[in-house]
Amino acid sequence: MRDTWPLLESIPFPAIRRGRLETLQVNVGYRCNQSCVHCHVNAGPNRTEEMDAETVDLVLSFLERRRIGTLDITGGAPELNRHFRRLVTAARDMSVRVMDRCNLTVLEVPSQEDLAEFLAAQQVEIVASMPCYLLENVDRQRGTGVFEASIRALKRLNALGYGSDDSGLVLNLVYNPQGPSLPPSQVGLEADYKRVLGENYGVVFNNLFTLANMPIQRFGAILIAKGEFDRYLAVLRAAHRDENLAQVMCRNLISIDYRGYVYDCDFNQMLDLPLEYDGRARVHLADLLDEDIADNPVRVAGHCFGCTAGQGSSCGGALKEAAE
Ligand code: SF4
Ligand code: SF4
Repeated sequence: MRDTWPLLESIPFPAIRRGRLETLQVNVGYRCNQSCVHCHVNAGPNRTEEMDAETVDLVLSFLERRRIGTLDITGGAPELNRHFRRLVTAARDMSVRVMDRCNLTVLEVPSQEDLAEFLAAQQVEIVASMPCYLLENVDRQRGTGVFEASIRALKRLNALGYGSDDSGLVLNLVYNPQGPSLPPSQVGLEADYKRVLGENYGVVFNNLFTLANMPIQRFGAILIAKGEFDRYLAVLRAAHRDENLAQVMCRNLISIDYRGYVYDCDFNQMLDLPLEYDGRARVHLADLLDEDIADNPVRVAGHCFGCTAGQGSSCGGALKEAAE
C-alpha cells in the first residue's frame, strides 16, 4: 500500500492548540469482522493487535484521575477485544459517557449474540457506520451482504429502545461519501436517511454524522493508485473554512493506540504521528496521568483539510451544522 504521508507532510495547515481535554478516544485493536474499502485503520479479520488488560487498567485510571467525561471506543471492531466489556462496565460505573464505534455486523458474530443487550444495559451510545441507505452502495464499500446485516442489527437495536427519542439509548449513524468528494449537507442527508430507512425498513435512529474521507491509509492508497490524490486534496483545500478550526476534535480529545501511546487524533494515530509533548519522542498515557496538556500544539498537515473542508468533519459529524 502506498503511504500518503510523504505527500501530506509538506502541505501547510493553520496552527491549532489544544483546549480542555474532555474525551479519551481509545483504539482497542485492529481486528474487525469486515475489511472495508475506505477503512482508515486497515482493520480486518487477520489483524492481531489488541489492547491488553494492563493498558485497559491504565485507561480506567486515567479516566478517573483526569475526570474525563467521555470515553470513545474504537477499533477495528472494538467489541472483539476481550477486555471490551470490562472497560465499558468500569467506565460506566464511574458515570463516564461511553461511545462505541460499532460496525453493526459485529452483532452477528457468533461470540457476540448478547452484545446488543449488553450495550443497552450499560447505556452505551452507539455510533454506527452506514455509508448509504441503498444496498448496492453499502455492499460495494463494505462487502456483499453488509447492508442487510446492518439493517438486521439496527432492527435489533431499535427493539431494545435504541434510536427512540424517549429511551435514553442513543443510536447515531455515520455517513461518508463513496469516492473523492465532500459529503452533502448533514441536515438534508439525515432527513433522507430517516425517511428511507423508516419507510423501507421501519428503522429509527437519532442523528446522522457526515464525515469526509481522509486521504490516508487504504482510501489514500486507492486515490494514489487511481491518480486522484492531488485532485481530492485540491477539493479539500478549496473548501477549507477557518471557522471550522475552532471545533476540530483534536482540541478536546486525545487518541490512544492499543499499546497506550498518545496522538492528537485517530487520523494522526493512523499516520503514526505521535503527540508532541515535553520533547519526548512518544508520549504514553501513563506519562499524562498528572500532566495537563491544554495549549499544547497539535501536529497538523495536509490531511487536516479533511476536518475543515466544507461543513467540516469530526467524530460528532459536521462542525458547522453541529454548532448551529
Ligand atoms: S467496519 Fe470499520 S473498522 Fe472494520 S474494516 Fe470497516 S471501516 Fe474498518
Ligand atoms: S486530522 Fe486530526 S489533527 Fe488534523 S485537524 Fe483533524 S482532528 Fe485535528
